[in-house]
This record gives sequence, structure tokens and C-alpha cells, in this order.
Amino acid sequence: MKFTPEKYNLPDIPMTPFIDAAEIEAFLAGPRPTMQELEAVIAKSLNKQRLSLQDTATLIKADDPESVALIKQAAKDLKKAVYGNRIVLFAPLYVGNYCMNNCAYCGFRKENKEAVRTTLSREQLIQEVEALEEEGQKRLILVFGEHKLYPPEFIADTARTVYSVKKGAGEIRRVNINAAPLDIEGFRKVKEAGIGTYQIFQETYHPEMYKLYHLAGPKKDYNYRLTALDRAQEAGLDDVGIGALFGLYDWRFETLALVRHTNHLEVCYKVGPHTISFPRMQIASNMAFNRKYELSDADFARMVAILRLAVPYTGLICTAREKADMRREVLQYGVSQIDGGTKLELGAYSEDADEPQDLNREQFHVSDSRSLHSVIDTLLDDSYLPSFCTACYRKGRTGEHFMEFSVPGFIKRFCTPNAIYTLAEYLEDYASAAQKQKGYQLIEKQLQELEEPAATQIRTTLQRIKQGERDLYL
Ligand code: SAM
Ligand code: SF4
Repeated sequence: MKFTPEKYNLPDIPMTPFIDAAEIEAFLAGPRPTMQELEAVIAKSLNKQRLSLQDTATLIKADDPESVALIKQAAKDLKKAVYGNRIVLFAPLYVGNYCMNNCAYCGFRKENKEAVRTTLSREQLIQEVEALEEEGQKRLILVFGEHKLYPPEFIADTARTVYSVKKGAGEIRRVNINAAPLDIEGFRKVKEAGIGTYQIFQETYHPEMYKLYHLAGPKKDYNYRLTALDRAQEAGLDDVGIGALFGLYDWRFETLALVRHTNHLEVCYKVGPHTISFPRMQIASNMAFNRKYELSDADFARMVAILRLAVPYTGLICTAREKADMRREVLQYGVSQIDGGTKLELGAYSEDADEPQDLNREQFHVSDSRSLHSVIDTLLDDSYLPSFCTACYRKGRTGEHFMEFSVPGFIKRFCTPNAIYTLAEYLEDYASAAQKQKGYQLIEKQLQELEEPAATQIRTTLQRIKQGERDLYL
């Protein structure tokens, strides 16, 4: 079946639910594809075309070792072609963990009496941001439970406060949000605070399974959550992130549903999600861990490769829920953003560094607790270019006709120079002497691969950064 929006079981109408579980299951049914069918889909993707649901299902069903190896190799090739070697870095900042919902998998759920509840005061928030800035962070995602204490005005004020904090050479240049779905007016208020991406995960796209995990609180309304990012678009907030929590239901279903959600946004608003996240379930405080739908490491890597091929231009995020080795592996297959120096306990960034993790104070267990310095070191060792770039949304390059990497030559023209500038700032202001040397070696290697006059222009700007100028970007 050829991909056309008219053939969906449900039509794509703005603000209208668009997931039909039977449709997704129908795509996933049927035999493993032939090698010819698989190669045709891979060729389409390497040609940088978006894959249809049918094509994506072909990749998912191709589960023999030879096919999986082909898919992974293709994802590696595509990642190099579209993204180059740059990896965007950020950190999460938990602002408040009061919650009216009772999500079965989350340490913050209402009924978890062991959870230590806090909302950062303005002073604590400033201390946290200062501590993050002192590490060299430039991009944060603010995380909130769903509670009357956290209305849109509070989220917007928190973002404004974060932008206002300047410590030494530090500043936060992009504030993203992960919080509850809002109404259109709410999204408008948050947008006015100058946020980057508003991220909401559907958790599981399967409506019946969703009910089982969300028995109480506003989150039990599947459709209100599903259409949240439609309301964001209606509010003019066109930079949105989607995601599913892997481990709640069959990963094949969730992967296809993520592509279905992407299609919906593309058809209705002419712009897909900026990012897709695929957190795997972690142990949380007082949680009975159900392993029925657990996603193995091998299938996790496969899923990332499939998503990369299906949506070549969408950023893929892999957080510190995953162990360092796993993150290193999936970087090859298409992950373009990771967090570094992550702490989930409220107030922990400004606390004594040696405090052990306390599960009752965090949403779930963090598997990669390396410092930002150490994450950057490993990236440099693997010849990745760490980037703190925030240029696009500050230059207004979001929304219709712009998707992160859709313009030919975009990476060379904007992303690589901006990554180099922000890495140089980091090396000047925060790195150890050894890391500084390593970082500039990588920058030099990068410059040698660039054409003129770009390389010379970048060298000139690098000189200005070395002499103390900051926040230079294209
Ligand atoms: N409260 C808001 C919500 O639920 O959308 C936003 C913040 S919530 C703290 C962020 C995300 O963390 C959730 O959407 C969920 O996917 C993820 N999460 C919750 N429990 C988790 C667990 N045990 N392991 C991994 N991720 C989890
Ligand atoms: Fe609350 Fe979000 Fe945790 Fe659910 S996932 S309990 S809504 S913080």
C-alpha cells in the first residue's frame, strides 16, 4: 500500500485523535518482508525520504540477524549524511514533583507516600541554575509534575527566571519544558516566556493499555494528552517533542505510533516534531516493576535505527536513563541529543556532589551519572563534536518550512560552525587543560575537512572567542 494521508483509517484533522490501534496492528501483522522489499525501503530512506507507516512496519518486521545488521548499517550511514558528527548536549532540571496523577510507573505518583515532595523556591531555582551554569550547561529542560501548584503562569515564570540567571561566563540560552498538557491559552502563556521545545510523551499510544496505567487524575484522559501538541500548534508553539515510555506495551506498536504521530503533525501543521524521545522504563520509588513488555538492549538499538531511517530529519534524544555504554552504541544509529551531568533529585545540582542517589527524591533511577565533563570527554574520544548550539530558535528558524535539518547544506552552513563556537566557549571557560587540548584537536580536524572560505571564517570567529567574546552564532 502506498502512503497517502487519505488511506488512514482515521483522517488527520487538527485537534482530533488520530491513533487507530487496529490500523497500527494491521501494519504490523503479516510475514517478514523479503530482502528485496527491505532493501527498497532502506534505499528510500538513504535517499532522505520520509518513510510511510507501511515502510516502517517493513523495517520492524525484518527481524532476522542479516536484516537487522543491514538496518543498523543504513542508520549509521544516514546519520553521518544528515547530522555529521555533532551531538547536542543538555541537562534536565526538576522544578517540582507534586503530582495529582497516579501513573503506575512513576516515583512521583500521588499514592507514593515514600516520595519526598518539593517545589524549588525561587532562591533554590537560582542556585540550581547557577550550579548548572558553572558546569558549562547552556540548554536545560525543566520538568514538572502535574499539579495545581504548576499552572502555565508558574511554568512561564520559572522559564523567565532561568533565563535571567547569569553566573560567571554562564547563561542558559534555551529552556525546554517537559510538563503536563495545557489548553491553548496555557501554551500561549508559556510560549511568551521564550521557551524552546515543549515536550510531552504519550507514554503508551495503545488506548486500552493507557487506561491500565493511568487510573486516576487528569492524565487518565488519553485523547486530551494525544492532542496536546495540536493545541500547542494552535497556540503558535510550533516547536514540540513527542515520545513514548518503552516498557508499557509492545515496542513495535509504540515505534509505529510515534511515526503516526509525526505524520499527523506534518499533515496538519506542515511541521513534524522537533524531537522524538524513547525513554525505557527504569526502577522508581515504590514501584512494582512489570517486565512483560521490557525492551531488550538489542531491540532498543534496533528501534533507534528504525526511527532514524523512518524520520531522517527529526532529532532523537537518548537520556541518562540508559547506561553510558548503551548511549554510546545508539549514538551511532542516529541519536542526536543527550543529557550530561544529569541529577534528578530536586535541588541536587547545588548540593554536595558526593551525596548518594536517593530513589525517594527522584522520579526514577539514573543509569548514567557521569559529569558533563566526563560525557564530553567520551564524545571527544569518539570524534563527536559536542554542541551547545541554541541558534535556530533564537534566529526564529522553527516551524513551517523549517525542520531541524531539512534545508540542503544546512548542517555545513549553520550547525557545524555553531557547534564549533559553542564547544570552543566550553573549552575556554570550563574544561581542564587536557580536555581543552583534546577539544581543539577535534576542532582542527573538523576545520580541515571544511571548504574555503568557511574554514577561514570559522578560524576568525574562534580567535574572537579565545579573546573573550561570547555567544557568537550564525
Ligand atoms: N508530569 C509530566 C508528565 O507526566 O508528562 C511531565 C514530567 S514526567 C516527570 C516526564 C516523563 O518521565 C514521563 O512522561 C514519563 O515518560 C517518564 N517516566 C516516568 N516514570 C518513569 C520511569 N520509571 N522510568 C523512565 N521514565 C519514566
Ligand atoms: Fe505525575 Fe508525570 Fe509522574 Fe505521571 S509521569 S506521576 S504525571 S510526574
